[in-house]
Amino acid sequence: MRSFEHIYINGRFVTPTGTEWLDIIKPADGSVIGKARLADENDALQAIAAAKAAFADFSRLSVADRLALLANMVEVLQQSEEALHEAIREEYGAPASRSQWMARYPADVVQQVMTELRTYPFVQQAGRATVQMLPLGVAGLITPWNSNAGFICHKLATAIAAGCTTVIKPSEFSIWQTDVVTRALDRAGLPSGVFNIVTGRGASVGHAISTSADVAKISFTGSTETGKAILRSAADSFKRVTLELGGKSPTLILPDADARHAAELAVQAGFINSGQACIAGTRILVPEHRKAEFEHELTAAVQRQRSGPPADAATTIGPMINQRQWERVQRYIDIGVQQGARLLTGGVGRPDALRDGWYVKPTLFSDVSNDMTIARDEIFGPVLCMLTYRDEQEAIAIANDTQYGLSALVIGADENHARQIGEQILAGRVMINTLTHEPRAPFGGFRCSGIGREMGQAGITAFLESRALTVA
Ligand code: NAD
Repeated sequence: MRSFEHIYINGRFVTPTGTEWLDIIKPADGSVIGKARLADENDALQAIAAAKAAFADFSRLSVADRLALLANMVEVLQQSEEALHEAIREEYGAPASRSQWMARYPADVVQQVMTELRTYPFVQQAGRATVQMLPLGVAGLITPWNSNAGFICHKLATAIAAGCTTVIKPSEFSIWQTDVVTRALDRAGLPSGVFNIVTGRGASVGHAISTSADVAKISFTGSTETGKAILRSAADSFKRVTLELGGKSPTLILPDADARHAAELAVQAGFINSGQACIAGTRILVPEHRKAEFEHELTAAVQRQRSGPPADAATTIGPMINQRQWERVQRYIDIGVQQGARLLTGGVGRPDALRDGWYVKPTLFSDVSNDMTIARDEIFGPVLCMLTYRDEQEAIAIANDTQYGLSALVIGADENHARQIGEQILAGRVMINTLTHEPRAPFGGFRCSGIGREMGQAGITAFLESRALTVA
């Protein structure tokens, strides 16, 4: 049984003033594997004060000095990869192939930020004006549970690249991972106060950060509902905000696509992270005249998935993070059936032989119309909807008929044509016949999928303010 009793403020592990303890439950079998003491609002205020005090000196560091600190971060995160892998597998339940990648990602993403920082134009000429890019101040970084360690490190590295100091509010459902990352970062030689980590509830710690007048910037990844609350809290002090929110991404399979290949790719896109991914392609659009063929191929591709314990090498879909998420997914599957969608495979309940733990049956619906709840709401589990279209213009209209706009996948044999279709989709990233995102490109959403962009040079810009200096 692990016990996590500290938060991190001003370069030291400290006991929070918060007194709430939270059980850490292993999603694979529902057992309690640890407990953690949560921070409260007072801890958040102390962390903000530490970040504020550290800002003046830190913001004056040269780019070379910031690159050196980021290089230290890479080193300590690489040394912690094994420990992080264990934490992600046990606490989050990601299958081994995924959790290995997730454990490597923090170091990789810091290296990506370094690549952007090396060429970032902090000073540019605009006519007679010299445009200087200045760090915003204290940045509040708020992360979700579905890739907590990766988001902490990505947001922190980007803030450091820009010269901001930070208060990090990780998800309260990722405490073990946060602990591994904090212990690694403690060895990275970052000046005291540059990063502070206060894990606690959103309503107390998250709220304190997003309302504080001493915080200049919020970088948030999480649900669209919480994003709205943060935007409101940030309004009074005109904080800059980057919001990376939910999605209901379309996978558009074009009439010339090979059915088996397209079905395999579409199911992979939908079941990334066991379906607990903002970018998951959960609406699969297929040509009406090939409906039966795609029902067959998609069903087969879903049935090739293996639900099981994360430690089992054959597992492709792990459990949901917790009981609340499991119940949410069950409710949506039930709603799908009630509203007249037809189950091709899966359904409510647990898969056979997985009676303990938060396992969901990989589920595929057909006869889904785009106005059904299961086609509109982000479910955040392994539940896919197959919809049909009569022609490509209708396909594009269905793809764009959503409050979201985070990601889209187009699959087709004629790549040029697929690209032309992709250029009509309103989403922050559009993938043509691939699932591999270019890490140098900006990432973020249209409409209710968010505000602003992370990654690439745009990610650094989001922590900066410009000053135009014109001399007579
Ligand atoms: P969530 O919105 O419930 O919580 C995210 C974080 O916000 C947590 O740390 C939480 O404690 C905190 N929080 C909650 N209420 C708050 C408040 N009032 N003020 C400040 N902070 C508050 O999201 P989640 O369930 O942890 O994560 C899943 C969601 O995240 C999904 O909707 C998913 O699509 C989204 N997500 C988006 C991206 C992206 O890049 N667009 C990536 C991953 C996840």
